[in-house]
Amino acid sequence: MKSQQAPCPHKTTQALIVGGGMVGCATALMLAQQGKRVTILERAEPKAISAQSPMGLRVSALNLASEKLLSEIDCWNDIVGVRACRYRRLAVWEDQLEPVEFHADDISQTHLGHIVENDVVQMVLWQRCLQHELIDCQLIGSVESLMQQHNHSELTVDGDVYRADLVIACDGGQSRIRQLAGIGVEGWQYQQHALVVGIDTEQASQDITWQQMSATGPKAFLPLAQGKGSLVWYHHADEIAQLKKLPHPQLLSAIRQAFPDQLGHFAIEQVASFPLTRQHAQAYVDGRVVLLGDSAHLINPLAGQGVNLGFKDVRALIDVMADADEANWASDKILTAYQRQRKFDNLAMMSAMDAIYATFSNARPSVKIARQFGLNLINKLPMAKRLATQYACGL
Ligand SMILES: Cc1cc2nc3c(=O)[nH]c(=O)nc-3n(C[C@H](O)[C@H](O)[C@H](O)COP(=O)(O)OP(=O)(O)OC[C@H]3O[C@@H](n4cnc5c(N)ncnc54)[C@H](O)[C@@H]3O)c2cc1C
Repeated sequence: MKSQQAPCPHKTTQALIVGGGMVGCATALMLAQQGKRVTILERAEPKAISAQSPMGLRVSALNLASEKLLSEIDCWNDIVGVRACRYRRLAVWEDQLEPVEFHADDISQTHLGHIVENDVVQMVLWQRCLQHELIDCQLIGSVESLMQQHNHSELTVDGDVYRADLVIACDGGQSRIRQLAGIGVEGWQYQQHALVVGIDTEQASQDITWQQMSATGPKAFLPLAQGKGSLVWYHHADEIAQLKKLPHPQLLSAIRQAFPDQLGHFAIEQVASFPLTRQHAQAYVDGRVVLLGDSAHLINPLAGQGVNLGFKDVRALIDVMADADEANWASDKILTAYQRQRKFDNLAMMSAMDAIYATFSNARPSVKIARQFGLNLINKLPMAKRLATQYACGL
């Protein structure tokens, strides 16, 4: 940390990415493929993980579009090489009623996606960034200030001044860059929290992820590599706080009572809880600053779309930049085109999640009949089912 020293000469780069998480590193690698010089500033060194490491608790269901993007930056095989669990089926049902099952065969694919630990994805991407000659990865203390000029931005970090054509915020939901750029957010905290429980099942890894809806909130199972799994239990914040305090044997019986029989036998390995937040940046662009991933949007994790939307942001930004000439790759026109593409799409997905959430949390008999009718209809209309599956897979 050099915050007491006088600022040293500028460090210049074309793209300055703040946040070396999944979205930040993917953006860096994509930009480097376009020949851009990139600097990534990250405050916590990503963990080194091997197939023998304990299973991480934060996992994501990566859809086919995300897999494609990660393949294009030559990272997907390495991610799967550490560990990932492929799933071919996705089932949703309400209480004891008949499930709607989406199958990879319905859309002529071998699978619907993979469940992967966030730390594995970040580690592989970060390592690839470290190896890339156009990418400079820096571990930093704190971002102090942002100054915007006509055709560049300057960021003061630990006393050093970085000058870049474009500052790209990939620093998550509490984005410091978003705050420094003065971009506001809209949103709210949901009344529910999510309890995430890492489990060891007695079966080999399963090829199905499922979600049981109920008026108190969904209960989901995500299969992981090595016969492990992740349970997500949505409930009121107070209930989740109580459940989290329980010793593992009591929590295990509470889960057995609340979750469907499909779960089978399992042992609890670790437990954590997360508040559920909806947050949307009022703008994705301000001068020479652009927001991607969670810095732009936090979505209810109900359908596991968070980082998939972040990777869609990356794809959109890279595509609009690919069409620009060298002098204008970070111009207002290009950044506005990115915002136009992504802001509405992200808002539509957030609103769809909220509609599903509200519909399934409603105990009124008429609403219950209507939603069961809707689920049955999807089951009986192959075309509707195919379209829903393709959309969830990002196709
Ligand atoms: C319970 C739960 C379940 C979820 N399940 C899924 C799922 O199944 N599928 C899915 O797609 N998504 C899921 N998500 C969402 C997903 O985890 C996020 O969308 C994803 O992590 C966002 O990635 P990101 O790179 O944008 O941000 P982050 O993962 O938050 O990464 C931000 C990075 O920036 C760094 N950083 C932050 N501030 C600074 C700073 N000032 N200076 C330097 N570096 C900084 C951080 O250290 C971090 O490395 C879930 C979320 C929750 C809460």
